[in-house]
Amino acid sequence: MKPRPVKGMPDILPDASARWQYLEGVVRDIVQSYGYREIRLPLVEQTDLFKRSIGEVTDIVEKEMYTFEDRGGESLTLRPEATAGMVRAGITNGLLHNQRQKLWTAGPMFRRERPQRGRYRQFHQFDVEALGYEGPDVDAELILMCARMWRRLGIDRIRLEINSLGLPEARARYRDTLVEYFSSVKNQLDQDSIRRLEQNPLRILDSKNPDMQALIEAAPVMLDFLDEASAQHFDELKALLDGAGVGYTVNPRLVRGLDYYNRTVFEWVTDALGSQGAVCSGGRYDGLVEKLGGRPTPAIGWAMGIERFVALFEECGGKVAPGEADVYLVAVGDKALGEAFAVAEELRDAIAGVRIEVNLGGGSFKSQLKRADKSGAAYALIMGEQEIADRQIGVKPLRHDAGQEAVARDEIAARLGAMLAET
Ligand code: ATP
Ligand code: MG
Repeated sequence: MKPRPVKGMPDILPDASARWQYLEGVVRDIVQSYGYREIRLPLVEQTDLFKRSIGEVTDIVEKEMYTFEDRGGESLTLRPEATAGMVRAGITNGLLHNQRQKLWTAGPMFRRERPQRGRYRQFHQFDVEALGYEGPDVDAELILMCARMWRRLGIDRIRLEINSLGLPEARARYRDTLVEYFSSVKNQLDQDSIRRLEQNPLRILDSKNPDMQALIEAAPVMLDFLDEASAQHFDELKALLDGAGVGYTVNPRLVRGLDYYNRTVFEWVTDALGSQGAVCSGGRYDGLVEKLGGRPTPAIGWAMGIERFVALFEECGGKVAPGEADVYLVAVGDKALGEAFAVAEELRDAIAGVRIEVNLGGGSFKSQLKRADKSGAAYALIMGEQEIADRQIGVKPLRHDAGQEAVARDEIAARLGAMLAET
């Protein structure tokens, strides 16, 4: 019986990974150009960390976590998101004592959701967090950073939604009003919402059930309940975005699916990917560090879904070469292979980043040339007995009609370098 992959956990094949590498590189360079540094975190944390940070009454903790008991009897969970681990690392490594940290990390996350286009059980995020920054300047900067990525990559089918959730006391007042409202329409609520009504009524606003949308639309909005300081924070953020020329809409129903958020929340959304429209989501979580046992530390971050980001880049017409060979070395005859290895090493020394495949496993001239063609290479270098005797190499363009050229062995690196620079 053939093995089968785990549902919702796709492989990322070589053609796609070339795009991933390129796009991840662009994001990394941009994020680092704002002073963020990489932190690498474990994929597994104690289950309790996620329960306490994400919140017990959330989709993630209630039904999506991959939780298991390890052999020592400890309950562990594959990380469903990165912020909790980031804060845990900040606390356990003492990174937050009289210091501020701008950090990024990237890698796989795990949620047992219903797999569909743009929604997987193992997916990947690029995650950026600023710990110890009160904002709203850093809030704006984190958003500007995203705008720069879209500009740089020609991603134009994306827009920004922002909202403020205020401080906990203001949210508590809002919560009471929400409970009152949803109780008055309780007979129209779905099962999840009825449960949330008691435990976590704000989560109802985060429901994905289409039948609930009309009720949610008509619900009272948090912005009417904002405390004064949060209202000012929000106004300053908007002014900074206006000044930087970043467009946005205020979406008073944006609450985000995790418990730890307060004040600024935002989401970059697209209509190019069907119903999986959230590409990059973020928000402020000023209470989380303290809640997890650290000193009070304001913080904000965003996470981008890399699968959706790659798909959106393509929908916007972005293209990346599939990362195949540039040059394929055809070596026929007894002496040719050793000579071909030597030439290939020389070329790798001389031409930065060049991708060279030496024909492996022998074969006739004809069959080697066929492989050269299949490899995607722009040029075949041909080394047969005659070429070796003449200290020459045949250079055959594979993607355009120009004829084969004989290049002296000593000039091959310079000549090929020039030819590749042209294509
Ligand atoms: P959604 O509303 O689509 O469920 P979310 O609010 O659960 O998204 P976050 O927890 O904020 O998402 O994660 C940040 C980003 O990670 C999202 O904006 C999205 O791009 C991506 N993402 C979240 N869940 C998945 C998933 N199951 N598969 C692929 N990407 C995902
Ligand atoms: Mg979700």
